[in-house]
Amino acid sequence: MFQGVNASDGYGIGVAQVAVAPDLSFTPTAPDDPVAEKARYAAALKKFVAQTNAQIERMKKTVGEEAALIMGAHIEFAEDEGIKDMVNGSIDSGMCAEQAVSEAYDMYYNMFSNMDDELFRERATDVADVKTGLLADLLGKEVVDLSTLPENSVVVVEELTPSMTADIDKENVAGIVTETGGRTSHSAIIARALEIPAVLSVEDATKSIKTGDMVIVDGGAGKVLVQPSDKDLAHYRAKAKTFADEKAALEAYRGKETVTGDGEKVLLVANIGNPEDANVAAEHDAEGVGLFRSEFLFMDATELPSEDEQFAAYQKVALRLKGQPVIIRTLDVGGDKEIPYLNLQHEENPFMGFRAVRYCLNNPEQYKVQLTALLRASAFGDIKIMLPLVTSLDEVRQAKALIEECKASLDERGVSYNKDIEVGTMIETPAASLIADDLATECDFFSIGTNDLIGYTMCADRGNDRVSYLYEVYQPAVLRSLKRIISEGNKAGIMVGMCGEAAADPLLIPVLLSFGLNEFSVSAPSILRTRHIISEWTKAEADALAEKVLKLKTAAEVKAALQAAAK
Ligand code: PEP
Ligand code: MG
Repeated sequence: MFQGVNASDGYGIGVAQVAVAPDLSFTPTAPDDPVAEKARYAAALKKFVAQTNAQIERMKKTVGEEAALIMGAHIEFAEDEGIKDMVNGSIDSGMCAEQAVSEAYDMYYNMFSNMDDELFRERATDVADVKTGLLADLLGKEVVDLSTLPENSVVVVEELTPSMTADIDKENVAGIVTETGGRTSHSAIIARALEIPAVLSVEDATKSIKTGDMVIVDGGAGKVLVQPSDKDLAHYRAKAKTFADEKAALEAYRGKETVTGDGEKVLLVANIGNPEDANVAAEHDAEGVGLFRSEFLFMDATELPSEDEQFAAYQKVALRLKGQPVIIRTLDVGGDKEIPYLNLQHEENPFMGFRAVRYCLNNPEQYKVQLTALLRASAFGDIKIMLPLVTSLDEVRQAKALIEECKASLDERGVSYNKDIEVGTMIETPAASLIADDLATECDFFSIGTNDLIGYTMCADRGNDRVSYLYEVYQPAVLRSLKRIISEGNKAGIMVGMCGEAAADPLLIPVLLSFGLNEFSVSAPSILRTRHIISEWTKAEADALAEKVLKLKTAAEVKAALQAAAK
């Protein structure tokens, strides 16, 4: 069995089709006629752009408009004036087109692939894809073609480039296994959009797996089984059937209100990471967006995004959600979220350092660019502003004062915005939990960030295996904190939501309902399942369970009690 990155849920059982990239080696030669050589390069470029545009059109039909735009990056890298000048310059100085193209794109590839941030590293894949396309054309070779595959194929490739995914024969692909790529790679996004089970970053997959091997892809667990035993096959076939049956059964919850067993309404919204995800949220029947992590805009750029760029991204989400609530969190930089061009100083303890709202309030002019963009976008939908990592009331007051400044300057500019825009805060630190009563008097809503709250409450880093037993939402300390936050918010009459992963935890949902949580913000694919679980609990049943678990003294006891009560 191989372990990789769980990129797209589901079970794929089929026959391996190992696709290895074509040999694009060449012998550098000096061209006799640089003008003709440049024309050869120009022709390859033209063909590549035309093919890519055709792929984008095909993808719009298979994976949807927004996912198709991922391929737009290829066109940008192909037509980039700087790269074109570099290639033409190299040809003028005596290189053949193949070598000039290789060297130029390798330079960009190395630059992107050496960056610390995963999102930047993903750009390297786009660059490599463009290089392969151009070289293949110059050398008259065919690139990997996944458009005609035998039924029930498990595609095994070194790297699933966006252009390969574009043409993938969805009907016949049972699963995908690759040697590279993370959960946020474009391949992962497209695999999820196509709902094909996928496991990425399986070392040496194309060498260890042979075409014709029977393969099981467990996309949820990130496992790949090659030539499984009859017992494993039977086991996974049963799992695949249960997965498909459950998914089909959950469709009954599409288009329905989110209500508890006794008819109490709660809001069920989605967490998103970029404007394209707004479509995914809408497709999964989310009732809005409970957390838009605006970091992506900053991570996916090489310099600070301008007010207009940010406005365009926020406006897009607002328009797509058609009046449903959209909570956009202001820049949550630092800790595990690095943005190289901000040149933040190295810190001994970045998780307790100069990050998130602390950084933003210290750079008010920069922060105002984001706040202004958010205000402008509020004219196009129900946008709410959320502050990350708040630990004191001062931070909320300072941010609100900056928002007022931005409003005043928009008034001067004659630009419209929602004058009553709601401003709320993440509750993801023990300090915020302890002063939740005070925060509630000056915030329009809370959203509990359990991912951080658990870590800071338990002093346990989720990434550290040796303390992961402490990193548990079922810890009594965490449960008491959640109860306190929700009840203080309820008392003040403000909305209390949760956008940490715990909001989708089937075991915890009844406890959260009992505590009085008003809004559950979960990943889009968890929407229907969460709606289903919420519908299974009446207030009285949830209260009885919550009362019981609050008396328990250890996480293990709490978890066991929740498991025993699960429906
Ligand atoms: C959280 O901390 O729970 C949260 C939602 O924020 P992030 O995961 O982006 O830190
Ligand atoms: Mg957080």
